[in-house]
Amino acid sequence: MVCRESRPKQEMLRLVVDGDGEIWPDVLQKAPGRGVYHCMCKACLTGMNDKRLQLLKAKFRVNLPQQERIRQRMVAMLELQLKRMFTRQRASAAIGRDAVMHRLWNNMPLLLLRAMDAGDALVRQIDGGLEKRARAGATSVLTNVPSRQWLGEMCGREDVAVVAIDAAGVAAETANRLNVYCIWLARITGHKKGTER
Ligand SMILES: [Zn+2]
Repeated sequence: MVCRESRPKQEMLRLVVDGDGEIWPDVLQKAPGRGVYHCMCKACLTGMNDKRLQLLKAKFRVNLPQQERIRQRMVAMLELQLKRMFTRQRASAAIGRDAVMHRLWNNMPLLLLRAMDAGDALVRQIDGGLEKRARAGATSVLTNVPSRQWLGEMCGREDVAVVAIDAAGVAAETANRLNVYCIWLARITGHKKGTER
């Protein structure tokens, strides 16, 4: 599902249907039972609706409508995974402006998550830092996340405007996953201005 483009598994989300006809996201792709892979591209996520879910009727007994429940389950599952990942990364992550600005000076690959409601001064400061890094040939990925409150919750803190996560060497895979989940969430919840790579 849905656009039928052929994509690597990592760009799709496995959905499983339980015995009651309810559809559950299986982020870790390990749940038992029959499943389908849902494409997580922008068009497929913004176009999610019960009409499309009818396609599943060919293979499963499904309760419809349940688009809104699936959407909520996807959000809950992604946020749970993100919280776990943030917890594991906490020791090496730079949390908050000062820590992040400091981290920008070293040219190791970084993933930056910035709250959509971050103040203008911080936005300019981070953008300036990223430009300098780019000139120095350093790799940085910047992704917008819903809010300072949201980012704070993910990090187990009060409001957090920006976080930098190490994306060098063995950390690259985790940083990439984290980024992908943030982008999926943005597509599902539809917050604007999201940076797409
Ligand atoms: Zn698609």
